[in-house]
Amino acid sequence: MSAEDGVLTGPPAIAGGSRAFDEELRLGKPWTPDLDSLTPSFKAIFASGFLSNSTYVEELERKTAEYLQVSHCVAVSSCTAGLMLVNRALGRAGGEVLLPSFTFGASAHSVAWNRLTPKFVDIDPRSLHIDPSDVERALTQETVAILATHLYGAPCAIDELNTIARSAGIKLIFDAAHAFGSLYDGRRVGPFGDAEVFSLSPTKLLVAGEGGLITTNDDDLAENCRAGRNYGNRGNYNCKFVGLNARLSEIHAAIALLSLETLEERVQQRARYAEIYRGGLGDIPGISFPAVRATDRSTYKDFTIIVDPGTFGWDVPGLEKALEADGIETRRYYYPPIHTMDAYVGRVEERALPVTNSISPRVLTLPMWDDIGEERVERVADTIRRIQAAAG
Ligand SMILES: *Cc1c(COP(=O)(O)O)cnc(C)c1O
Repeated sequence: MSAEDGVLTGPPAIAGGSRAFDEELRLGKPWTPDLDSLTPSFKAIFASGFLSNSTYVEELERKTAEYLQVSHCVAVSSCTAGLMLVNRALGRAGGEVLLPSFTFGASAHSVAWNRLTPKFVDIDPRSLHIDPSDVERALTQETVAILATHLYGAPCAIDELNTIARSAGIKLIFDAAHAFGSLYDGRRVGPFGDAEVFSLSPTKLLVAGEGGLITTNDDDLAENCRAGRNYGNRGNYNCKFVGLNARLSEIHAAIALLSLETLEERVQQRARYAEIYRGGLGDIPGISFPAVRATDRSTYKDFTIIVDPGTFGWDVPGLEKALEADGIETRRYYYPPIHTMDAYVGRVEERALPVTNSISPRVLTLPMWDDIGEERVERVADTIRRIQAAAG
């Protein structure tokens, strides 16, 4: 924080006041292990000579499957690769996969890399999750799967999507990159749908450095993903299908095992910070939050606000610039929406996405990490209040 820690008064930095944070407050900080706690596993890995495909990966798969209460966990090199393998395991030569445009680009890439067709669906204006009623409108004979994101770590409308997928006879896959530790009606996210895919990259809750986890209760799907992460090879080098090298290394698995030990307390910590953000920002005109159902728990992988420029007095680029002047880093998760990205414009069916197009330019993600500390969160909220007061 700034030299003059304590109560902030007067105008924000952009209007000539002093900066809230002398040293830039970053958007996030990854969980990192204490090096000494890693030494024993690293020594064991190097002594064994098995740097891949061995006991640490197996232990990570066993422990996470037990933690998430799911039959199979397949560790992979990234969530993107995991999603690619799950889409590959659908075994379809073509067809449409329904997914939100308001999510991370990799979600759609995993579909397109399989020569399946991403078809973008609108979001619910309260939760910002994929809207089940628009999924129903988008369904055709060509639809082979729904790929829904548990956005920011809040579970999406799992039951509603499940009902739609079952009655249409299509697969249901969850991009659970944000959701390791999320609760849906009190149950951990992981066993739902046909498969869920988590990310172990540094901005996520469970950290390996780089990595991912596929969870499923489907024995065949799990076996296909195991073969698929290993070129499609089931052991005899007669590849059954065109796979990838998407293995997780033993070193990354050892890091993730340590990250798992403290996961629950870190999720709870973030929930407290989210409460402070809501308390500090809730009564500022023109600021609202994506709704999380009372029976669910978000990991708050991100803490994102929705800004109504007319009421708040600044649009998102203006607020972003004002926060930057005060030393606060922010990010627009998710803007631009995927259907407007160069990679997809003109290559996907144009559908009306009014909620996505209205919400996406109005979201801003605020700093959040495991031990950001209550004072910093309060100070960010205070700064936004002073920026609002200086509007116009
Ligand atoms: C981070 C992220 C991914 C990609 O995860 P990687 O492990 O980096 O491949 C996919 N989907 C969402 C929603 C993400 O946030």
